[in-house]
Parts: sequence; C-alpha cells; structure tokens
Amino acid sequence: METKQFKAESKRLLDMMINSIYTHREIFLRELISNASDAIDKIYYKALTDDSLSFDKDNYYIKIIADKENRTLRLIDTGIGMTKEELENNLGTIAKSGSLAFKSENELKDGYDIIGQFGVGFYSAFMVADVVTVISKALGSNEAYKWESQGAEGYTIVPCEKETVGTDIILKIKDNSEEENYDEYLEEYRLKAIIKKYSDFIRYPIKMDVSKSRLKEGSETEYEDYQVEEAINSMVPIWRKNKNELTAEDYENFYAEKRYGFDKPLKHIHISVDGAVRYNAILYIPENMPFDYYSAEYEKGLELYSSGVLIMNKCADLLPDYFSFVKGMVDSEDLSLNISRELLQHDRQLKLIAKNINKKIKSELVSLLKNEREKYEQFYQAFGRQLKYGVYSEFGAHKEELQDLLMFHSSKEKKLVTLDEYVSRMPEDQKYIFYATGGTNERIEKLPQTELVADKGYEILYFTDEIDEFAIRMLMSYKDKEFKSVSSGDLGFEADEKSQDSAGEEQDNKELFEYMKETLAGKVKDVRISKRLKSHPVCLSTDGEVSIEMEKILNAMPN
Ligand code: ADP
Ligand code: MG
Repeated sequence: METKQFKAESKRLLDMMINSIYTHREIFLRELISNASDAIDKIYYKALTDDSLSFDKDNYYIKIIADKENRTLRLIDTGIGMTKEELENNLGTIAKSGSLAFKSENELKDGYDIIGQFGVGFYSAFMVADVVTVISKALGSNEAYKWESQGAEGYTIVPCEKETVGTDIILKIKDNSEEENYDEYLEEYRLKAIIKKYSDFIRYPIKMDVSKSRLKEGSETEYEDYQVEEAINSMVPIWRKNKNELTAEDYENFYAEKRYGFDKPLKHIHISVDGAVRYNAILYIPENMPFDYYSAEYEKGLELYSSGVLIMNKCADLLPDYFSFVKGMVDSEDLSLNISRELLQHDRQLKLIAKNINKKIKSELVSLLKNEREKYEQFYQAFGRQLKYGVYSEFGAHKEELQDLLMFHSSKEKKLVTLDEYVSRMPEDQKYIFYATGGTNERIEKLPQTELVADKGYEILYFTDEIDEFAIRMLMSYKDKEFKSVSSGDLGFEADEKSQDSAGEEQDNKELFEYMKETLAGKVKDVRISKRLKSHPVCLSTDGEVSIEMEKILNAMPN
C-alpha cells in the first residue's frame, strides 16, 4: 500500500488550517455536518433532473455515533458518496471544493442549497482527531473506498466494503493532553449542544442514540438506562422561527454558518411580513468592509429562497447599490420555484419585496443612528462612502432617502455630525452650510479659508473623501440651507463684500498687482485684495461652480 504525499503547499496549508483558521474546535462538527447535508442535497438535486431517481425525504439523514471506549466519533450520511477519484481530488487537495465544482457544472438551478465552496472545512476534523477515516460509496457505483489520513503526512486509499450509498467518517479523537481536553467530543450532552448551536436548521435529521432512563419493569424504585434514536436538530430554519426565541448568538452563528462574512455582524435585521407579499428575511450589516468590497469581484445580493429551497445565491435585484454591503437571505412562498433568473427580474412580487427590504434597512440605520450612535459611526466608517455614492449616483434619485444618514467631521464638535445636527444649531444670521475640502482634517484646519468662517463662529464640515463634494453638490441644500464651500467667492457675510476700500487699495498698489498677475498668468484668473484672511498672507479661491478640490479630481479622471 503506497502512501501518497500531500503537496508541499498542502502541508503548510493543512498546518495553518488546523492551528489557526478556526478559533473554536467544536466547529469541526458543523463542517462535517454541512458536508453531509450538501451530499444529500446533491442526491436531491440529481433526482430533480433525472427521472430514474426518486427522492423520499425519509430515507435521508445524518447519524452521529460516539464510542467512548474506542475514542471514535462516527458520522454517517446517506448522501451522494464519493468515487475513488473524488476521494482523491476532494479530500487529497486542500482548498479544492467538489461542491463548488458541482455547483458550476450543474449551473445552479432549483432545489439546491449547497453550503460548501472553500474546500477547507473537512480538514477541521484534524483539530480533534489523530486519524480520519472516510468510507464512501458513490451513487451509481458498486465499489466502495476507504480514505485514511493522519494529517499532514499524507493519505491512503484502498477498496473496501460498504453496502449502502453514502459516506461514513470516523474520527479517532485525540487523547487529552495537559492543556487540552478532547473527551468532550465523545460526550452525548456536548455533541447535542454543538449540533443545536450550529446545525439546528439543517434540513435533514441529524440523529443520535440518546440515553434515557426509565423505571424497571415491575419495579417502583429501580431505574434502568436505555437508548433511543432521536433527531437532535429542529430542522426549522432560523428565519421561520419567532424572533423572541432567538438570541443574538443564534444570529451570529447563522452568519458564520452561511459564510456571509468572516467578521461578526454589526447588526441583524429579522423581517417577517405577512401582507400583500409574504416573506421572511434575515439581513445583516457587517462589522467590517469585506476585503474585496471596492473591487470588481464584489457581487452584491441576497440569497433567495422559495419556500425554504434556495433558488439563487446572489439575487442582486433585492438590494440597491447604496446598500450593497448588506448580507443575508430572503425566503418567500410567493415566488415560484422554477423561476428563471431572467424572469425573476420582472417578478412583481420580487420588486415588492425589494422595496420593502430597502425601507426596512433604511429605518434600521436611522434607528441605529438615533439609539446606538457608536455602532452607527462604526458602520459609517466602513460603509459611509457607499451612502455618499448613493446620493450622487443616478442623478440624485435617492438623495432624499439617504441625506439623513450622512455624516461629516465637524470643525466645532471634532467628530462626525449629521446634517440635521448641523442645521439645528446654526446661528440665525448664518445663511449657508459651510464646508471645506482637503486631504485630511488636519490639513483642512490649516486652510486660510476656514479661519474666517470659523472666526464668525460658524461650524464647518470637513470633506476629506473625494466623493463628499460631489454628493453635496447633488444635494444642493439640506432643510432649505444651501451648501457653501469656504473657498467660494461669496460667503454670504459682510467681510466678503468688496468694499470701496479694497478697490482703492488695489489702485494704490497697481504695479504690484499687475506684476503678480503677469507672473501667475495662466495659473490664476485674477489677483485681488482679500478681506477673508486673518493670519495667512494669501489664499486661493474660486468663483465658479467647481471647487479647487473638484477640479483636481475632474482633471485626474480619464477622458
Ligand atoms: P467544501 O465543503 O467547502 O467544498 P470541504 O473541505 O468541507 O470543502 O469538503 C471538500 C469536498 O469534499 C466537498 O466539496 C465535497 O465534494 C467532498 N465531501 C466532503 N464530505 C463529503 C461527504 N460527506 N459526502 C460527499 N462528499 C463529501
Ligand atoms: Mg464543507
């Protein structure tokens, strides 16, 4: 029997995997269960497209057996199984996902909810096991094979006996060491708790032989232990449960289980609507910006289910671009299962749901801003820019909806403030909402133009993001107050008015002014006496529509 070698990279990956990807050991069970569930889903999917196969839900299950004496934990599934090649390819190559390949080969259609895609989950078994044995018989095959590995050193594959189609995974649980206790993964109560925690909504029963105790027959005082097979998971998807029954942790677990992100959700939104269109949705605002958020690879969208069956992984129509950071799923009984992607776009029900969801996200953000300011600011640091793009895009079509969610750094408060906060404390004589643009708050603070406005006691919003001014120009005004750049020609207060005086002064220094204009020809339009300066000798100002900062950006844009 030849022992095949993992490739060098695989060895390192496996090591990394076992030691660092997962913080909690217990999730190995979640990973193996979701693989088993995927394997059953694959049979279900095959049966949908192949008339010679039938799918009777009662015949499909996952069973978990703990054997304390032999220190083994066994997971049996009645899924699609693996051929010799599949064992080799899917379990012999780290980060290779047979499930992902299955999805693209079969072009995700209906009745299909396969979780796997990263091809690393299986190896989490080595966090708790010294030896992992996989015995599998593939659908449509007469042969069974045994794959076995002790971790990084490699694996073996040999033919073996197995009657039914499916996969058995046998973990030889590690011995306890001084620091670590592995016994718990053989304890019934512990296994039950882990299954409940991570895999409760798996659609197939996860069975265990559970110990119970009863009065001995004929006795009134003596008890005896007996075992009975029970399904541990409720099989009710979390989104169908009552909000009151669920804890924040349940939502967090669902977020991790569905791989919506590797962070924690900042906020979850659970919607159950029983109106013109019925649907349940669980949405999340992530804590951090996904690493690919501003790349072309990032795809917005929510998972779309029809009566509990996934029909689309990323339904983009459910989310506007400005909320593209939202993750989660929608399940509706009012969508037909066979709906194709093209038809879906025109589905009236879907549009209603999208509109509804959009409103809900908006109102949740408003309440976050009102009631959990710190969290909102954290959200805004991560995704505020997307909201500003939202104001600017589509010729400002959504600006009314989004303006209350915007925040900018304030010269007075030295922190982020909303437009509403700004306007509500404007002194009566202040005509405009003032803003200043620059690379950083520190640089803006030092601008000569800010000095005068700040000196008047007026608050200034600092625009450090390129999109800021574009968004504000699109808004034009907020609560009837126009926005005004501190470097624009007319600031709306008296110091700005060109007095007779300055005309006289210019006349007196005619030569100097002419010399400056000549020297700067082509660079500036005019050189004037300014009443706007306090401690700085000179400043640049614009009198057109486009500010200096915007001009820079526009010039940098490809034509
Ligand atoms: P992922 O689930 O992300 O694809 P895993 O490392 O968990 O990655 O599993 C790797 C692959 O091994 C799966 O994609 C699947 O093809 C195969 N596999 C794992 N467990 C089973 C199983 N119980 N039955 C059938 N195939 C399995
Ligand atoms: Mg997996």
